[in-house]
Amino acid sequence: MEVGRTVADLREHLARWRKADERVGLVPTMGALHQGHMALVTAARAQCDRVAASIFVNPKQFAPTEDLGSYPRREAADLETLQSAGTDLVFIPAVEEMYPPGFATLVRVGGLTQGLCGAHRAGHFDGVTTVVAKLLLQALPDIAYFGEKDYQQLMVVRCLVRDLDIPVYIAGVSTVREADGLALSSRNAYLSLEERRIAPNLAKVLHSVAIAVAEHPGNVVDELARGLRELRDAGFEIDYLEIREEDTLSPVTTRVAARSRVFGAVRLGKTRLIDNMPIG
Ligand code: AMP
Repeated sequence: MEVGRTVADLREHLARWRKADERVGLVPTMGALHQGHMALVTAARAQCDRVAASIFVNPKQFAPTEDLGSYPRREAADLETLQSAGTDLVFIPAVEEMYPPGFATLVRVGGLTQGLCGAHRAGHFDGVTTVVAKLLLQALPDIAYFGEKDYQQLMVVRCLVRDLDIPVYIAGVSTVREADGLALSSRNAYLSLEERRIAPNLAKVLHSVAIAVAEHPGNVVDELARGLRELRDAGFEIDYLEIREEDTLSPVTTRVAARSRVFGAVRLGKTRLIDNMPIG
């Protein structure tokens, strides 16, 4: 496995592979890798001849009040994990490599970024779309892999590549969970023992709301109210609990008609957790 730290390194490998007519998959991450990330690598390994992963804790997607400074960084362990999963190349740029002095461009997707996490994390998606646009254009893989755990992000990235004609297919990968239902996340490392005990209740509530509205599509108001109550009783502070259509992210406020998902974002102490589940 090769490690590249400059855009030039990355481009050199990718150009060689493309010349050999090899299909290339890219897995963008912020490191502190877990089995959720590895599901993306496994999907890439299954579908592509070459797999590149990136590790970059992108300062532009953190608000000044957020956890950029404390975000877990475990480069040596991540490299071992990626190597054992059959990754060919890991791109680990420094912040100055991605944002050299004078960097002045912001890539912004409208519409889809307005609600859910976009409404609670000012500037977050602008940071995400700016770095994802850069990574995709730097590497120009055939396929880039994103997790459904961050479903809004997946949809925003699909919109980005469509709107800017970036010739990369965006593949979505199902959420990987702990045995008790908690979605794997690098931020789970922040949880105290007591918080870790409470955390799976987010998935539990999303699941029960999803089941209930699948059976009774007109019960959206009551089920969301019940879900909010149960989240609060479990000990979470709630950013949102909402149902949105799967393709458009349009709010579903009274009755589920098209394919939809339940989305939740909560805070437990200083840790923010998000999750979502399909209905039906
Ligand atoms: P992150 O390092 O948190 O930015 O995540 C990198 C990629 O891994 C994103 O596309 C995430 O959606 C995806 N991912 C994170 N956690 C999971 C999970 N539990 N299951 C599947 N994909 C995940």
